Amino acid sequence: MSFDQLEAALEERRSAHLYRRRRLLQSPQGPEVVVDGVAGLAFCSNDYLGLANHPALQRAMIEGVERFGVGGGASHLVMGHTTAHHALEEALAEWTGRPRALLFSTGYMANMGSINALLDKQDAVFEDRLNHASLLDGGLLSGARFQRYLHNDVDSLTQRLGRTDARRKLVVTDGVFSMDGDIADLPGLSAATREAGGWLMVDDAHGFGCLGQQGGGCVEHFGLGIDEVPVLMGTLGKAFGTAGAFVAGSETLIETLIQFARSYIYTTSMPPAVAWATLASLKLVREESWRRDKLNQLIAQFRRGAAELGFELMDSPTPIQPIVIGEADQALGISQALEQQGIYVTAIRPPTVPVGSSRLRVTLTATHSEEQVNRLLEALNQARGALSHGAISQGATSQG
Ligand code: PMP
Repeated sequence: MSFDQLEAALEERRSAHLYRRRRLLQSPQGPEVVVDGVAGLAFCSNDYLGLANHPALQRAMIEGVERFGVGGGASHLVMGHTTAHHALEEALAEWTGRPRALLFSTGYMANMGSINALLDKQDAVFEDRLNHASLLDGGLLSGARFQRYLHNDVDSLTQRLGRTDARRKLVVTDGVFSMDGDIADLPGLSAATREAGGWLMVDDAHGFGCLGQQGGGCVEHFGLGIDEVPVLMGTLGKAFGTAGAFVAGSETLIETLIQFARSYIYTTSMPPAVAWATLASLKLVREESWRRDKLNQLIAQFRRGAAELGFELMDSPTPIQPIVIGEADQALGISQALEQQGIYVTAIRPPTVPVGSSRLRVTLTATHSEEQVNRLLEALNQARGALSHGAISQGATSQG
C-alpha cells in the first residue's frame, strides 16, 4: 500500500500554514541558545525558573548516575522503584502537604493513567474546554461520559454537574492554562465540585514553581488543601528543569493509581538519576524565592512594554504571555520575522488553539535579563512592521 493518502494529508496541513516542524537546539536550555547553527535569544521554553542547566542539578544528576546507574531497568512494580524515586515521592508529598505522591515518567502519562484509573463507563468527566491535550485524551479514553464546560466558568460547570446521574464525577482542569497563561478559579471550581459530590483534579504543570511563596503552585496560591483539590498533578520538566511528573493525594488515591493506572504499571521507571536531580531542584524551587520575584518583575516589564506597543495580551499573571495574532499565517510570519532577528518565539496554531486565535506564545524565565526583554519588545515591534509591509516570506518553521 502506498503512502499517497498520507502525503495528501500532509499537503493539506502545509497549505493551511499548520505544518509543524522541529528546530534543532544545539545548546543547553537558557535565554541564550544555538538553534540550527545560529545563536539567538529564546522566549519559548518552559524552564521558568532557569533550572534546566543549573550546576546543582548537573552535579546531582552525575551523583545519581554514580549511585544508581543510568536506566530504571524495570517498571516500578517489578524492580524499578529505587531509593531515589522513593525519596522524591516523599519530598513531593511533604511539599504539597499531601499524605503521598506518586511519580510518573511524563505528565502525559500521569494524566492519562490517573483519569483512567478513577473512571469507567458508569462515570462522568467534566473538563475545561481549554484543558491540555493529555487531560482531554485521558477523559476520552476512560469511556466515562465526557463533557466540556466553558473556559474557567463555574456556572457552566455547575449546570453540567446538576444534569448528571453518574456514579463518580471527576472535574478536571489545568491550574495555569498552558496556552493562555491564566489561572483557574480553583476556589469556585472546587466549591461547585464538592457541592455535587465530585472530585476535583488539577494539572498544575505550569503553576508549580512559579506561584505561591514556596513555589507550591495554584493550591498554595489559593491556600487549598486536600479536601478542596483531592487529585493534584504536577510535572517536573518545566519549572523543575528535569523530567517526569507526579500525582499527590490521599493514601487511597495513590494506592488506586498504583493498582489501576496502566501508564504507571506498564512502563519503565524514569532514570533514577532524574529523580535524584529533581530532589536538588525541589530544594531550589522552595528556597530560592528570588527566582519567582525576578520572574514577576520581568512579566510586569513585558506586559507594560507590549501594551504600550499596542499588542493584544491575554489576562495572564504567569510566565506564559501569549500575544494573540489571529490567523495562523500571520502568527507564523511574525515568528519567522523574529527568528530573522535572532529571537525565538513559537507560533501556536490550530488544533492546539481554537481557529482564529493563533498566537505567539512568549514565555519568560527567571534567567532572562531586563535588557533581553527590551530586545524582545523591540523585535516584536519591528516584526509586526515587516509583516504589515509584506516583507516576510511565509514558510513553516514553528510549532503548535
Ligand atoms: N499538562 C500540561 C498542562 C502541559 O502543558 C503538559 C506539557 N506540555 C503536560 C501536561 C504533559 O507533561 P509532560 O511534558 O511531562 O508529558
